[in-house]
Amino acid sequence: MRSIPDIFNTMDYGPAPEDASVALDWLKAHPKGFGHVVGGTFTRPGAKTFASKNPATGKALAKLTQGTKGDVDKAVKAARKAFGAWSKVGGHERARYLYALARIVQKESRMLAVLDTLDNGKPIRETRDIDIPLVARHFYHHAGWAQVLEASIPGAKPLGVCGQIIPWNFPLLMLAWKVAPALAAGNTVVLKPAEYTSLSALYFAQLAREVGLPDGVLNIVTGDGKTGEALVTHPDVNKIAFTGSTSVGKAIAAKTAGTGKALTLELGGKSPYIVFDDADLDSAVEGLVDAIFFNQGEVCCAGSRLLVQESVEDTLVEKLKARLTKFRIGDPLDKAIDMGALADPVQVGHVEQHITDAVHQGATLWQPDIDCPKGGCFIKPSLLLDVDQSNVAVRDEIFGPVLTVQSFRTLNEAAALANNTRYGLAASIWSETIGRCMALAGQLKAGVIWINTANQFDAAVGFGGFKESGYGREGGMEGLRAYVKEDWPWRESSPPGAAAKAKTVPASAIDETPKHYIGGKQARPDGDRTRPVMGHTGNILGRVGEGSRKDIRGAVEAAAKAQPAWAAMTGHQRAQILYYMAENLAQRSSGFADRLRIMTGLSAAKAKAEVEASLSRLFSAAGWADKFDGAVHSPPRQHITLAQNEPQGVIAMLCPDEAPLLGFLTMAASAIAAGNTIVTVPSQAHPLAASDFCQVLETSDLPGGVINIVTGAAAALAKTLAEHDAVDGLWVHADAKTCAMAEKAGAQNVKRMWCSHGKALDWHDPLFDGDVLLRKASEVKNIWLPYGE
Ligand code: NAP
Ligand code: MG
Repeated sequence: MRSIPDIFNTMDYGPAPEDASVALDWLKAHPKGFGHVVGGTFTRPGAKTFASKNPATGKALAKLTQGTKGDVDKAVKAARKAFGAWSKVGGHERARYLYALARIVQKESRMLAVLDTLDNGKPIRETRDIDIPLVARHFYHHAGWAQVLEASIPGAKPLGVCGQIIPWNFPLLMLAWKVAPALAAGNTVVLKPAEYTSLSALYFAQLAREVGLPDGVLNIVTGDGKTGEALVTHPDVNKIAFTGSTSVGKAIAAKTAGTGKALTLELGGKSPYIVFDDADLDSAVEGLVDAIFFNQGEVCCAGSRLLVQESVEDTLVEKLKARLTKFRIGDPLDKAIDMGALADPVQVGHVEQHITDAVHQGATLWQPDIDCPKGGCFIKPSLLLDVDQSNVAVRDEIFGPVLTVQSFRTLNEAAALANNTRYGLAASIWSETIGRCMALAGQLKAGVIWINTANQFDAAVGFGGFKESGYGREGGMEGLRAYVKEDWPWRESSPPGAAAKAKTVPASAIDETPKHYIGGKQARPDGDRTRPVMGHTGNILGRVGEGSRKDIRGAVEAAAKAQPAWAAMTGHQRAQILYYMAENLAQRSSGFADRLRIMTGLSAAKAKAEVEASLSRLFSAAGWADKFDGAVHSPPRQHITLAQNEPQGVIAMLCPDEAPLLGFLTMAASAIAAGNTIVTVPSQAHPLAASDFCQVLETSDLPGGVINIVTGAAAALAKTLAEHDAVDGLWVHADAKTCAMAEKAGAQNVKRMWCSHGKALDWHDPLFDGDVLLRKASEVKNIWLPYGE
């Protein structure tokens, strides 16, 4: 034992381990291991089991059941059975259950914190003070959403049975992020926890039973990736919500392609931590320790790339090294440690391999000379200095306590470095000058931005990424909407072309040289190839360009080039241009109506009505352009969060046959009103309605590249667009086969998809006068700012 003078001399903390006996007793009470939770019953352990281990010691904690396809099927059936009553029980009733879950999480918080720490290796200080309080907060917040859902989204309907798959880094918190909004909106759930960390989910299911959550509302099936895959491919699941790696996310998107399942993906990140020369450097160092060493760096939004302004680089790195020489790695149950164990030896190997590779590629490794326990999954905090942009450690998500260090000179250079990644999850900006912070925040393509702080989370604030960090948000209204059915006005029959008594016009009267419209100019199709356009009576009306891969590449390039300036314009300026487009369309309205009539066989009155509706839609989009505002959230801890609606970037759209002008303009106007630039492929059957529109665009002050039009064969162009990395969103109104193919191809670069799957829409429906398509064309960027005391 150390003497008091010893303690005064060293000023070291003694060990202060949390008592794990209650959690260990619970595990001991299940000597044969755990089964699944299906329809309110805890099933017996299955034939095939695997061990859940404590990564700090390597010792097995419990045996878990490897879920089979049959197990998943039983769980989905139980969830389906429970769905009827649960979806009808009413918001208030659901609110009571969610409230009860929040209360019981608080009452059992110590047990849950210990379980997650034992199972995952993360410090008890974090599970106790961060994970579990946030779990409770999530259920409280969503109890509120259940109560006010009908008032907030009138007529909101749940999706049905949701399959949810979560990773091991925040075991119970990821469960809460998934389960709370799903249940609040009236869905039932089958959840697959991560193989390494399923224990707190099983304990939570026990708590759910204690509060009387109806049987089958929450089902849990343990197992590995194959169990997850069985859930993804189950035909009776309506939505998949996945958090995990980008590679598995892409595989899941490919598997759900063409099935009509809703999908949200919260994937990986490589987030920058940007420090300007006028930052409070001591705070920035503490923030950095939180950003990259919190949870052993196993955090999707970890600030893993330090970008520091050149003039303070040396000072900051020295301060960071000084801080890390006082760093404490140790028993995760010790309340006084900074960092615990990584989740598994596999993860340790993965991190160490990355460090080795980075050093091979020229990086200098620095680690503090501190104690690091042996025998468990412990790694020292690591800095990789002298890295350039191409270094593997700068490009790949490492998911461990490893920080790369790069410097910059100007704000624009910082923005370019920060955005030079396939990910777009989070960013942290440090400067005492608010103007600098906000100027940079506006330039970053990231879903969450923390100003002078890092790793803040709250249930009221949406969380999620851009680019390959996935799509959809968790938390806040946008997170809730991901569990509410999108209620599109689908129509039974496709194209309107009935009652065709229109007089045919000789082809020669409207024959023109076919062109695409790219970068603000009419452009000859690649190779001058054309395709005929048929009228409704079967005569050839004229020809349009036969778009090729090359035409699409040109159009996407033009759209990408025009996007930043278009997004930077004010909503008012975008509205002015949309009004001007309407003005110019109005002047040509009889010509457009004739075209529609001749192409589709619509009656003169209906053709006129489609043009009128198109004019009105341009007005609607213009109306929204300067009103599509975000929100300001007030999370509980001395911050405000600005939830900005940000354009996705470049959106490509295959326009519907059923309303060749109205469908095209409804989509195009909404997407550009929200700040996107677009590549449109007009209706394959009736392309002239949209291709004529370039004459309107030419006279409407629309900057070149904002709207690009390429005519041609829908299926071939959809494939090229889906495969194109610079297309962020893809809307496909085409037959089911084309949609499935596009979804599958789009999965490879995590595209935001919206597909009709062969159904036709009533484009005259007033729904489209709302902001529904502006929302479809945006992602929310949440900017956290210090506020108040
Ligand atoms: P992972 O390998 O993608 O696994 C995530 C979950 O998917 C686990 O439950 C896993 O089961 C399951 N799974 C694996 N293969 C599957 C398949 N083919 N089909 C269906 N499910 C499958 O990711 P991880 O290594 O556990 O977690 C780390 C990753 O998660 C990092 O990339 C991190 O950035 C990301 N993450 C993102 C967020 C976010 O909100 N954006 C939050 C936390 C973590 P097993 O456990 O058996 O492998
Ligand atoms: Mg474990």
